[in-house]
Amino acid sequence: MTQYDYSLFVIGAGSGGVRAARVSAGMGAKVAIAEESRYGGTCVIRGCVPKKLMVYASQFADAFEDAQGYGWTLPEPSFDWGALKTARDAEIDRLEGIYGRLLDASGVTRFDQHARIVDAHTVALRDGTQITAETILIATGGRPTLPPFEGIEHAITSDDIFHLETQPRSIVCIGGGYISLEFACIFHGLGTKVTVSNRSPVLRGFDADVQRHLMTELTAKGLDFRIGVNVSSITEKDGLKHIIYEDGSTVSAEAILVATGRSPHVNGLGLEEAGIETGKGGAIPVDAYSRTAIPSIYAIGDVTDRVQLTPVAIREGMAFAETVYNDNPTSPDHDLIATAIFTQPEIGTIGMTEAEARDRHDVDIYRSTFRPMLATLAGREEKTLMKIIVDKASDKVLGLHIVGHHSGEMIQCAAIAIKMGATKADFDRTMAVHPTSAEELVTMREPVDHA
Ligand code: NDP
Repeated sequence: MTQYDYSLFVIGAGSGGVRAARVSAGMGAKVAIAEESRYGGTCVIRGCVPKKLMVYASQFADAFEDAQGYGWTLPEPSFDWGALKTARDAEIDRLEGIYGRLLDASGVTRFDQHARIVDAHTVALRDGTQITAETILIATGGRPTLPPFEGIEHAITSDDIFHLETQPRSIVCIGGGYISLEFACIFHGLGTKVTVSNRSPVLRGFDADVQRHLMTELTAKGLDFRIGVNVSSITEKDGLKHIIYEDGSTVSAEAILVATGRSPHVNGLGLEEAGIETGKGGAIPVDAYSRTAIPSIYAIGDVTDRVQLTPVAIREGMAFAETVYNDNPTSPDHDLIATAIFTQPEIGTIGMTEAEARDRHDVDIYRSTFRPMLATLAGREEKTLMKIIVDKASDKVLGLHIVGHHSGEMIQCAAIAIKMGATKADFDRTMAVHPTSAEELVTMREPVDHA
């Protein structure tokens, strides 16, 4: 039998790669991992975690305003970008350290450098060392996609936001998806003048009521929108960046964020030489067990472009370990994934949109729009939206969509019930928790539309 240096070599120490490495090691595999940048990957270093810290920072703007309606008198608040950056960077350093220590404690050997696949069982490190492994796992994640606009070099990506030393006074966020809208809300909360620019209506693919509701709320908050416009070029003059659209109109700001999707990070991996063909945008095609066309090479997470979400990459990593090291072939379940968009107000969603459901089922729609209690004394006009889509024949809940405070937290709990196949009758017989916003989920009695 061939002797390999390791049973598993993982390329990429993001959420998926680290979990796969640790769990595999725990199952007895001799594991090594290579990381060319920082431990923790996109989620911990330049994504979910630092972003959520900035969401928290930006929410204080509303909280200070609301506090006055509740009897507080506050001095004029001011925000210090540098102080937030220092605190946030220290927290990310702390988390990165934990990631590294967890790997060490699991007995995983770390190589802090780029790795490239040489053949089905060999990787080469940047320093020239070649290492053999029975199995190779690619978990290199994704990178922001840069659209081919003339002058794109004048724009920044979400990666760059975490390195900005000063807060831009104005920003245009190009894109109408997760990243553009989350940062648009963050910057607005922190006092930056924000314009969102997209070629089509925002949140394409989301429920139409969610799109409408978010647009109404964000417009009321004072965000500016340029929708249905195509960027022609970007220039820089007099300390400002200028977007020129195809229709000749322009918009200017101190910074331009481009958030038009993320692509698999496969550059320099040696895939072609190893005999792995990539698909759309560079995605590595895999089977239901995350195995590539080469039986000893697997891939998980954003590099496979199945569902670009951290918890999905983690699940894929665990399913990989279960399959390869625990003699228990496990296929990650990509059905009914709940997700939250940390806009302000937040979005929580799972399952079908109304349009998708109507295509396949005869449905009842339950919808409630109400002013959350917090907004009353605060004197805020904002509304929360909750929408349940139910299959008339089986009474099963096909989709649930929430826009409002804490909808990420709510959708996580509701997702358990929906994943278990909950019916509307199950929702109805569940006692309300009062007074909460979430109680509305179990008190909607009449469908709004019998069409
Ligand atoms: P999204 O796919 O969410 O949105 C991309 C946006 O950019 C769309 O509005 C799209 O418009 C527009 N766009 C795409 N290509 C072009 C182009 N060539 N020119 C102009 N506009 C373009 O991507 P994001 O970058 O926002 O996020 C990437 C992924 O990261 C998400 O899909 C999500 O899975 C993940 N993510 C998840 C988060 C969370 O869970 N909270 C947070 C952040 C990221 P159109 O609709 O017309 O195609």
